[in-house]
Amino acid sequence: MMTNMNSPLNLRLIKKCPICNVDYQQSMIQVLDESEYGVLTYATCKSCGANLLTKFASLPQGVIGNAILTDLTPQEVLEFADGDGINDDDVLDIQHLLSKKELVNNFKKLI
Ligand SMILES: [Zn+2]
Repeated sequence: MMTNMNSPLNLRLIKKCPICNVDYQQSMIQVLDESEYGVLTYATCKSCGANLLTKFASLPQGVIGNAILTDLTPQEVLEFADGDGINDDDVLDIQHLLSKKELVNNFKKLI
């Protein structure tokens, strides 16, 4: 079935919480972002509180989507989505840290 990218039909594909199997209420589903690439939605389960982040895209072949569970807030999701990509300097920084084993030590400090 063909569908418009902005159609609320996409949101109706989000039906049940994958954790506790309770039906989502449509009012609990927020649209965080819409673009030519698809629709990003965020749903919080009223029963168990799990947050489900989903991305839908309408292609000529139909609607495709994927979903992940997250503990990020909608605000954090958007900040992350707007963030700069990884650039050359980031890669070099990581390589530098790896060579000095600082990265591992920094992680150990975090734990
Ligand atoms: Zn749930």
